Amino acid sequence: MTSVQLNLTRPGASSCDTKLTANPWDIDLDPGYGPGASRADHIPGSAPRQGPLPQEYTDASDAELHARIDAARVELGDRVVVLGHFYQRDEIVAHADYVGDSFQLANAALEHPHAEAIVFCGVHFMAETADILSRPEQSVILPNLAAGCSMADMANEEDVEACWEALTQVYGTEADESGRVPVIPVTYMNCSAALKAFVGRHGGYVCTSSNAATVLERAFEAGQRVLFFPDQHLGRNTAHAMGIPLEAMPLWKPRQELGGNTEAELDAAKVILWNGFCSVHKRFSVAQIEKARAQYPDVQVVVHPECPLPVVQAADVSGSTDVIRRVVEAAEPGAVIAIGTEINLVNRLAAQHPDKTIFCLDPVVCPCSTMYRIHPGYLAWALEELVAGRVVNRISVDADTAADARVALDRMLAAKPR
Ligand code: SF4
Repeated sequence: MTSVQLNLTRPGASSCDTKLTANPWDIDLDPGYGPGASRADHIPGSAPRQGPLPQEYTDASDAELHARIDAARVELGDRVVVLGHFYQRDEIVAHADYVGDSFQLANAALEHPHAEAIVFCGVHFMAETADILSRPEQSVILPNLAAGCSMADMANEEDVEACWEALTQVYGTEADESGRVPVIPVTYMNCSAALKAFVGRHGGYVCTSSNAATVLERAFEAGQRVLFFPDQHLGRNTAHAMGIPLEAMPLWKPRQELGGNTEAELDAAKVILWNGFCSVHKRFSVAQIEKARAQYPDVQVVVHPECPLPVVQAADVSGSTDVIRRVVEAAEPGAVIAIGTEINLVNRLAAQHPDKTIFCLDPVVCPCSTMYRIHPGYLAWALEELVAGRVVNRISVDADTAADARVALDRMLAAKPR
């Protein structure tokens, strides 16, 4: 069975890793994020691992797995809701009740208080968020525990606490004459529940790529400056669009004295950016955009704000996965659109809009390593276990952490995208 639908139909296309044709269960026991964009990123030793999948699922054909998933869904009815992220492979999206970005899926989880189980086909931090937002009796299931997020893993609680301590030494704790505290922490949704709780305890916000601008505006009403983690690019792109100069956005490198900055640099800071990034979106470049424009003079270039600033500046539009989807839907037949985001979403949009020319800026097929780990074999297993009355791969956040994280998440849900 081939696990990834590699679209190598574009001239010159190739994949970034020959192991992409392997099945996830063949690589689950290996350390690391597995094949795909994050394969070279450092994985923490504490990252969850997936145990062996029963052989009846690894031996099953694609058709058999899909039939078993359908049958389990019929048996379970409204007792289960299946959420699928835009970056999931098509074979998973086909079984999702809701498909969306992390913000939309967080809302979808909230809207199903009566489902016994929420099967989250996304990555670990998204399932944690669904658990925090759902009722205690509901189970949130991540079909493959190896589906983490390399960006989320780039900030841990210990390093963020150390950073906060250092910033408190530099800035003190006194509010200014307007009542604004020295620093407000803002975390991108892509982080652990422990960091969302940290932000909740310190008067900060969670944001998504949909509402980052609204959240930063609110943060500056409450604070003189912002500590933004873990994605430096989303923070930089959003703050730069608000008129904050690059010199006022130092990069904080964990485990270095003052994050690798001088006191003077921190004094001038408006947004302190954590040194994290998404290895999927880091692959996009200005050279790719120039090549697309040379090949198609009328091309519209749309990229995700996790891309580096020069890429965002060279594009026509930058926005969340939902913005990208809406740009494609609004385009006239015959339009040419080059997209800078994860390949599964780009390929799906191209298939859904055959009257438009839609392609990924990156000619190399390199999916998100961790989204890739959710395969129909795991979904069939998790659903059939539910039918049998057993909950596998439950993602559970402890009550104290959940209570603090919920404060920051509620602020996120109230900060509607512009
Ligand atoms: S695309 Fe990037 S940010 Fe999203 S889950 Fe994958 S590694 Fe994490």
